[in-house]
Amino acid sequence: MKPFGYVRATTVEEAADAYSAAPGARYLAGGTNLVDLMKLGVERPGTLIDVRRLPLDDVTELDDGSLRVGATVRNSDLAAHPAVRDRYPALSQALLSAASGQLRNAATTGGNLLQRTRCAYFQDVTKPCNKREPGSGCGARDGVHRDHAVLGHSARCIATHPSDMAVALAALDARVELYGVEGERSVPVTGFHRLPGEHPDRDTDIRPGELITAVVLPAATARLPSGYRKARDRASYAFALASAAAVLQVTDGVISHVALALGAVAHRPWRARRAEQALLGVAPATDAFEHAVGLELAAAEPLRDNAYKVALAHDVAVDVLRSLHRRT
Ligand code: SF4
Repeated sequence: MKPFGYVRATTVEEAADAYSAAPGARYLAGGTNLVDLMKLGVERPGTLIDVRRLPLDDVTELDDGSLRVGATVRNSDLAAHPAVRDRYPALSQALLSAASGQLRNAATTGGNLLQRTRCAYFQDVTKPCNKREPGSGCGARDGVHRDHAVLGHSARCIATHPSDMAVALAALDARVELYGVEGERSVPVTGFHRLPGEHPDRDTDIRPGELITAVVLPAATARLPSGYRKARDRASYAFALASAAAVLQVTDGVISHVALALGAVAHRPWRARRAEQALLGVAPATDAFEHAVGLELAAAEPLRDNAYKVALAHDVAVDVLRSLHRRT
């Protein structure tokens, strides 16, 4: 591992200042992805800025009914939080479906959003990868790509985003709060991660030195029926092959609110806007769900070995919508 400097920050201002003094540094929280990538030589920061002592480890109920989750709240604590279990069950379910208990005890909310693809070529510095080394090519496109994207990919990169939590946050219309030298800003989770396009080396639109300070779950989706489904190779511990988070409200026999996000099919959580449009104002029924999800997945462009994901994502999405309908 390349030698690196280490700085411990106790306030967000200190953390941002430490970054200004060491451009290209990485913020360290749970370290469950970053440290692995440093050992592999994929990440080679000159400095780590430890943010674990920042006062960002609380879940706070705000006056407007929203819930503010600090960036260093552990995934296991967030999944078990009574307000999350009660008001945003899709988030609790997504968190509990991810990784192992030990990893969830270490991984943080901010780190979960910033985790990097598990594409094997990205993690192997002897292989071409436009995400790790722009311009070097994409080993996965003509190589092993069973787990890769079927929606929104580019000639440069076909990687998927690995987070379960982010998929639930996308369906729940959560926002990400950021702090940087230019001040604070807030962006929707659905606009936080990027599609690969010409620059797959950039996973998100986060600016150099910006720090995630919180995720805010809105009052508008609190207590609406929500759920998460995940298909994977082994139930004990595996990344998704396809997943879906949904929020569904039925009023007077028709769908009055629906949000659907697909996971493990694209470079970011894939908010299924076409499916949502097709379902609004419609009576909830299996054939309506199948039709809407089919419309969304008509845009899929599977590769040689991952066409199965289109059918799998369809079935997972329809299943979560049907289960929510049964509860409405
Ligand atoms: Fe790299 Fe993306 Fe290709 Fe994987 S899919 S090898 S991350 S460029």
